[in-house]
Amino acid sequence: MWLLTALAAAVTVASAQPLPVAARTAPAAGPDPIGALLAKQGLGNGPRALPMVIGLKIGESAGRSRFTMELSDPLDVRVFTLTSPNRVVFDMPEVLWRANGETRPSGQGAVKSYRYGLFRKGNSRFIVDLSAPVRIEKTQILPPEGGSGFRLVVDLAPTTNSEFLAHAGWPRDISGATASAGAAPALSSTPARGGKKLIILDAGHGGIDPGTHGQTGLVEKDLVLSVAKTLRKVLEATGRYRVQLTRDADVFIPLRERVNIARAAHGDLFVSLHADSSDHRDVRGASVYTLSEDASDREAATLAEKENMSDIIAGVDLTGENSPVASILIDLAQRDTMNRSVRFAETVVGALPTATMLLPLFPHRSAGFAVLKGPDIPAVLIELGYLTNPKDEAEMATEAWRNGVARAISSAVDTHFAPEIGPALRQANR
Ligand SMILES: [Zn+2]
Repeated sequence: MWLLTALAAAVTVASAQPLPVAARTAPAAGPDPIGALLAKQGLGNGPRALPMVIGLKIGESAGRSRFTMELSDPLDVRVFTLTSPNRVVFDMPEVLWRANGETRPSGQGAVKSYRYGLFRKGNSRFIVDLSAPVRIEKTQILPPEGGSGFRLVVDLAPTTNSEFLAHAGWPRDISGATASAGAAPALSSTPARGGKKLIILDAGHGGIDPGTHGQTGLVEKDLVLSVAKTLRKVLEATGRYRVQLTRDADVFIPLRERVNIARAAHGDLFVSLHADSSDHRDVRGASVYTLSEDASDREAATLAEKENMSDIIAGVDLTGENSPVASILIDLAQRDTMNRSVRFAETVVGALPTATMLLPLFPHRSAGFAVLKGPDIPAVLIELGYLTNPKDEAEMATEAWRNGVARAISSAVDTHFAPEIGPALRQANR
C-alpha cells in the first residue's frame, strides 16, 4: 500500500506558483493552469464542486504497466492490491470522471481491464483487473507542467504469485469496517411507522458495479433504479405503504449493507430488483427468486453466484464474512420468514403476467443470494427480464413497461398483506 498524503507539500516544492488548488475556490490573482486546461477541454472554468479526472493513459512496456491519471487537483489516492480476483485498487475521494483520450489496455500485459465509479458518497474507486501478479513499483503525483494537470503516476511491475499474495490486502483503516458496516446510515433512518407496512425496494448494483447491459446500451443499474422509483410512487399512491430505497442514486451499496438497511428500518418486505443476461439471446422473461441453501437448479445457482459478485466487483472486503447461507437457515424461527418469502414470490409470479412475460419454465426458483439473507424480513429478488434479449430490452426501455410492472408488483404486495390490511384494502378497491 502506498500513502499519498502530504502531496501539497511536494507540489509546493516543485512549483514556484501559488498552489493551483487554491484557485478552485478563490480564482484570485496569478495564472490558473488547471482552470485554463479545463476550459480548453470544454470542462468549464470557475469554482468546481468536485475534483475531476481529466485524462487516463496506460503505457505498457517490457511487461511493465504505467497508469497516468490526469487530475484537476492533487488528491489523496491510495493504491493497494487485493486477491480473488487479483486486482489493484485506487481509492480516492469522490471525483467527477471527465477523462479525455482514455486508453484501453492491450490485453497482452498484466492489465486485463479497468473500471471506475463511485464506491459510496465521497469515495470513488478505480479498479484494475489483473491477468498476472504485479507489485506496485512506484506511485507519485506530479505537479501541472507543460499544459497538463496534476498527474498521478502508478507503475506496476511483474512479480511472483507468492510475492503478490504476501503484499495484497486492505489498508487497515479502509478494510471491512468502512467498506460495508457503518456505511449508508443516511438512507437507513427509520421514519415514524404510522401503522403502514414498510416496503424496502433494493435496486441492484449501482456506482462502480453496473450489472449487466443490453445491446443498445441499457444498463442494469439504471434500469432497476428507475423501476424502483416508479414502484415507490405506485406503492405510496395507494396510501397503504411506506417505501424505502436501499439506494436512490447511482451509488454502490455492498450487499450486506442492503440487508442491514432493511433490518435497521424494520422493513416488512424486501424486494430486490435486477435484470438478467444469458449467452442465449433468445432466452427472455421475468423470474422471481427466494433464498435457499440448496439451489433449485443449476441456472439459479449460477445466477446467485453472478449477483453475489457485486461486492467483489466493487472491491468490498469480504474477509470475516461467512458466506454460507446455511448459517442463517439453521434457526427454526426463520422458517416463518422463508415461508412468507416463498408465498410472496408465488404471488409475484401470479401478478406479473399482466405486465410482462415470465420465464416459461419454473419462474420461481431459489438459491443462495447474499442480498436475501435478512433473517427476519420476507425477501424476494426479481429478475425483470433479459437485457441480452432484444425484445426484452426494447420493452424494458419503455415507461409503459415500467409502469405496468410496478402496478403488477404493487398488486402482489396488496395480495400478500391482504390478511393483515384486508379491510382497508377492500375499502380502497370499492
Ligand atoms: Zn443484477
